[in-house]
Amino acid sequence: MSQRDDNNNENSGDANPDNTCPCGSGAAYRKCCGLFHGGATPATPEQLMRSRYSAFALGMADYLKQTWHPSTKPSLQLDDNPQWLKLEVLESWQRGKKGFVHFRAFYKVGDELGMLAEKSDFVFENDRWYYVKGDY
Ligand SMILES: [Zn+2]
Repeated sequence: MSQRDDNNNENSGDANPDNTCPCGSGAAYRKCCGLFHGGATPATPEQLMRSRYSAFALGMADYLKQTWHPSTKPSLQLDDNPQWLKLEVLESWQRGKKGFVHFRAFYKVGDELGMLAEKSDFVFENDRWYYVKGDY
């Protein structure tokens, strides 16, 4: 998306806590990713991945920065954030202090649907998981 439009406003922040969580777990937002956005620490890479997807869906740039490993953290702006429609976690696993999540995320830009498939790397440091990078 090359220009700003109203989509970004629709996405930004005012989630109804009783709505179904954007991550697709089927649980209410307040019992799912809302907990992590409110300060709880995700216990697994998959929980972190889901909460980051939800943060993208809700336009929560601060949460994305907090959970991004300092070595790879971009100067994040969500001006071009598409409308995120659905997350499918295909596989997730941990090996020691490394975690991996293979997922597909579906989005919409204008009238066009798109899909992102990624294998994300996570690392456990300072008693919490961080997102490091994704391989497409
Ligand atoms: Zn969730």
